[in-house]
Amino acid sequence: MLTGSTARAMLLVGPGRLTPTRLPMGQIETGGWLAIESTGISGVEVHAWNGTNRRLDYPLIPGHEIVGRVAEVVDDSISFPVGTRVVLETSIRCGACRRCTNGVSSCTFRRPINAYGHLSSKEPPALWGGLAEYVYLDPGARLHALSDDIPAEVGTFAHALAAGFTWAVELPRLQTGENVLILGPGPRGLSALIAAKAAGAGWVGVAGLPHDTDRLKMAADLGADMVVNIEAGDVGSAVANSLGARPDIVLDVTSDDPEAIFMGLDLVRAGGRVVLASTKGTNAIHQLFSDIVVVKELTVRGAFGASSAGYHWATRHLATDDRIDQIVSHEFPLAEAGRAMQAAGGVLGRDELLAVAVTF
Ligand SMILES: [Zn+2]
Repeated sequence: MLTGSTARAMLLVGPGRLTPTRLPMGQIETGGWLAIESTGISGVEVHAWNGTNRRLDYPLIPGHEIVGRVAEVVDDSISFPVGTRVVLETSIRCGACRRCTNGVSSCTFRRPINAYGHLSSKEPPALWGGLAEYVYLDPGARLHALSDDIPAEVGTFAHALAAGFTWAVELPRLQTGENVLILGPGPRGLSALIAAKAAGAGWVGVAGLPHDTDRLKMAADLGADMVVNIEAGDVGSAVANSLGARPDIVLDVTSDDPEAIFMGLDLVRAGGRVVLASTKGTNAIHQLFSDIVVVKELTVRGAFGASSAGYHWATRHLATDDRIDQIVSHEFPLAEAGRAMQAAGGVLGRDELLAVAVTF
């Protein structure tokens, strides 16, 4: 019985203030406990750390890209036996709220959003994030078995892969031979490339910024048909030279860049699909002339989070693709979670920065 013991955790008490602590594992009536092995650190954690996500309520335990082992189950709401190694989906579904019944991926049964790494530790039983020894398995949590052969930190990349599949393949209904332009070469952009290629895309291009040199190189190594630094040359010309046509699908996975929306609408073919999976925060989009959507008869789709189908694909794909071992470039112990935040935010330098994980 874990109930009654305590779990080591890194508590974010406010922006930039990560405090090592122990939190009690209180009595639970339903669900269970997951013993965490590794947690990925992405832009979501960097926003929580920087205080740039104003919807968050501190204190909280950051970390939404969790891999671990089922440690205790108190009822039949968790269908995996104790000892199973799993990837834990970020979003928790209550199954009953308006959003859940309408098939939207973000449940708001708990505020600001019913998801791991986003809930305040004031919400019982407090352990809702990946930077802790244990995380609560809510009855609305969704788990996907992960092979024991995959290193835990590599397993955290299932989260990015699931998003890449959801955004580049599932939502735009990618067909074999179609061409995809990905704006942003971060972990999710690289994952979209891997997923699109695995799904039979004909051509995949990836665009990034000057500080993305190593990420663009990784994109080329992963089979991108074109990589381009958007400040070094005109992306439209680069796509025309490489593909000889306009892409069928453009995916925006940039980091807070409103210009990417103009670029996507401009570069996609008439009748094409634009998937917007990057939030812009307080960066407003000025002078968007919406006629481009009308005249080009575009489908514009917002995407937030990864689907269960994405996770299903990702946990299987990880077992077959050893190139992903190289993508998790930075690994830190729990005590150095602050440095992991800085690394993911690019504060420690962008060279060789691909993806970051904290491992227990
Ligand atoms: Zn719900």
